[in-house]
Amino acid sequence: MTHELVEKSKKYLWLPFTQMKDYDKDPLIIESGNGTKVKDSAGKEYYDGFSSVWLNVHGHRKKELDEAIKNQLEKIAHSTLLGMTNVPATELAEKLVQLTPEKLTRVFYSDSGAEAMEIALKMAFQYWQNKGKTKKQSFIAMHNGYHGDTIGAVSVGSVDLFHDIYGPLMFKSLKAPIPNVYRSESEDPIQCRDECLHILEDLLKEKHEEIAALSIESMIQGAAGMVVYPDGFLKGVRELCSKYDVLMIVDEVAAGFGRTGKMFACEHENVQPDLMAAGKGITGGYLPIAVTFTTEEMYEAFYDDYEKLKTFFHGHSYTGNQLGCAVALENLRLFESENIVGQAAEKADYLRDILQELYSLAHVGDVRQLGMMCGIELVASKETKEPFPFEKRVGYHVSLKMRELGMLTRPMGDVIVFMPPLVSTKEELADMTAIMKEAITEVTAVVV
Ligand SMILES: *Cc1c(COP(=O)(O)O)cnc(C)c1O
Repeated sequence: MTHELVEKSKKYLWLPFTQMKDYDKDPLIIESGNGTKVKDSAGKEYYDGFSSVWLNVHGHRKKELDEAIKNQLEKIAHSTLLGMTNVPATELAEKLVQLTPEKLTRVFYSDSGAEAMEIALKMAFQYWQNKGKTKKQSFIAMHNGYHGDTIGAVSVGSVDLFHDIYGPLMFKSLKAPIPNVYRSESEDPIQCRDECLHILEDLLKEKHEEIAALSIESMIQGAAGMVVYPDGFLKGVRELCSKYDVLMIVDEVAAGFGRTGKMFACEHENVQPDLMAAGKGITGGYLPIAVTFTTEEMYEAFYDDYEKLKTFFHGHSYTGNQLGCAVALENLRLFESENIVGQAAEKADYLRDILQELYSLAHVGDVRQLGMMCGIELVASKETKEPFPFEKRVGYHVSLKMRELGMLTRPMGDVIVFMPPLVSTKEELADMTAIMKEAITEVTAVVV
């Protein structure tokens, strides 16, 4: 049975972000899951060390979430949000608005983080058109930013490995630097932050009349390799956007819903975005729902008689899906009743302590963490911070070794991503850390 399934997967599938030549060598088919573990079709169990790519919150097969979907199924699975709404989408919108920063009062649904970002970009663009400031048409994007894989989201992204090839397809955006303390000369967070803010201010001073919005990941760049901003950076960016009348789009797709030890990461610095994208953890990792939040002021710029042509002409077939909204509602109820955000903050403190051990390894250059989002950067030399040669694929081989040892995760280059479900127990966190340690030690010992 397993062999047959593996052969079928090789014959028919083309997987996202995957060199299929790698998959054909090391195929894997997940069949079930329970708590923080998933099981493959051959019966081998693995810790879900990356929350099934940054989604899972309460573990797999959480009874209440399973029930919420079953209960909703008794009523209806889906109906459209074009021109009408449904019960769970409406209830969820109210709940979400209560949780988000105060200025964000409107909810626009979609199905993925990339779409939530596309919507934010189009809303920002049209806002200025609707307001008659027609010159404001371009965007500022951050170096190494990642907002998803559709063309608009890629246009404000800049992870070269993923994005370079699509250059000719993208709309142009201006790039501003992100303070990467580990890779900076001084390694002084404050100096590093202020240098970046100065460069951003120079750019805004010169170009603000043509700039509609700036897009930035909240508090930490995930896909860039878990790069945590120095204190005050996000707040500094907010202040500059306000000063130069540029909208601020904050991407909370990875960091939102408790992942950093706050419900939304921008709460760490009391930042109020004009637009905010969220997704991933919103359904506890169950179904594809995403949201673009915005302010009443933005909303009002689109609210007029139809003939004025200010309508936001955007939507998707499954927008506001009832099963998805029902499970998201139950997810948020669990956030409250099980104090998930408080738990995550406490677990993160524990993790910070045990992850320190990794510094003792010969090739661990940096251990970065914000809440339950962690990145371990592997380098050829700790003294010079020289990376391993690209073709050695050290991060990839470490992840294969971890898989052998019973834990799944996906690296970003040579940064090992560790992002366990928020409810992982301390014992499980210690187990997972031990697996990382063993895999890093074994693999790096043979590369050099
Ligand atoms: C995952 C992610 C996205 C894209 O979300 P999808 O649901 O995969 O389209 C956007 N921004 C950030 C910061 C992400 O981590």
